[in-house]
Amino acid sequence: MGGKRVQVEHLIADPGAKVEGYLRVGELQDGTQIRIPLAIINGSRPGKTLYIQAASDGDELNGVAVVQHIIRAIDPSRLRGAIIAVPIVNVLAFQRGQQLNPIDNKKMNRCFPGRRDGTLSERIAYRLYNSAVKQADLCIDLHQGGAWRMIDEVRVRVGEGNRCYEESMELARVFGLGYILDKKGPDGQLARAAPQDGIPAIDPELGGGQGWDRRSIEKGIRGVMNVLKFYGMLPGEPEIPRRQVVVHDLKEIVVDRGGFLRFKVELYMLVKKGDVVAEVTDPFGNVIEEVRSPYDGVMWAQKPRPMAASGEAIAFIGTF
Ligand SMILES: [Zn+2]
Repeated sequence: MGGKRVQVEHLIADPGAKVEGYLRVGELQDGTQIRIPLAIINGSRPGKTLYIQAASDGDELNGVAVVQHIIRAIDPSRLRGAIIAVPIVNVLAFQRGQQLNPIDNKKMNRCFPGRRDGTLSERIAYRLYNSAVKQADLCIDLHQGGAWRMIDEVRVRVGEGNRCYEESMELARVFGLGYILDKKGPDGQLARAAPQDGIPAIDPELGGGQGWDRRSIEKGIRGVMNVLKFYGMLPGEPEIPRRQVVVHDLKEIVVDRGGFLRFKVELYMLVKKGDVVAEVTDPFGNVIEEVRSPYDGVMWAQKPRPMAASGEAIAFIGTF
């Protein structure tokens, strides 16, 4: 698209125009409108259409900053094709600073492609999917590891049998965070639903934590710019790392003893089976357990607070 009018429900962008508005997706019990912000950047010349969204989990803010940057930075007169961008998908969860929609307690990323007559989350998914995602040639759903500390990585959720598998893997490589999880995801993920309709899709995970992490946001912006350049939507050369690590699973590391955690392995570091990844101490600081990795892999994510009870997961290892 681009080079011709792009329309998402009542929002219409002519070639060369940038339009910002809200989709009205329902009402709260007092009649307050529930509105999803959505922008269309329509290039003056034809090209691909990119759909990008953030805050599908309402407490994942890094992607919001990436989408805001893209909406402000891209000049439609230089763009080929169009960008449809949703900075906040799960608006009610976002208000509360939590992952799940408080009305139906659903995780938005289990609701795609949505249901017209479903719960509020399913209705929002339905509207976004049918009004916006289906127009796209490429789909990016920005996430992060919630409050956990996590590496910057891109997930491909379709599984090898899908007709869009190769194209989704290419999109992940082009986004270029250097680390890819290639593992079929659960039903209802946008990055699984869109490829069923022939739209390559990825789920970049921009670190983790609360608030805005400048480094993860910058990597996310570079990733989107890489996509725009690689697929001919913007001039310029993408900056894609020559070597990228691909893992196929994330395995939990669980503690036997409860107490305080001292990690011995930092994020991104390679771990060998049997390596001590953390120590557990009692309330006096005495070491009571050395936690060893049962796997070879990459230190992918760590519990944000340095405490755990018996049987709790304290880290995830990306395995090959
Ligand atoms: Zn998420």
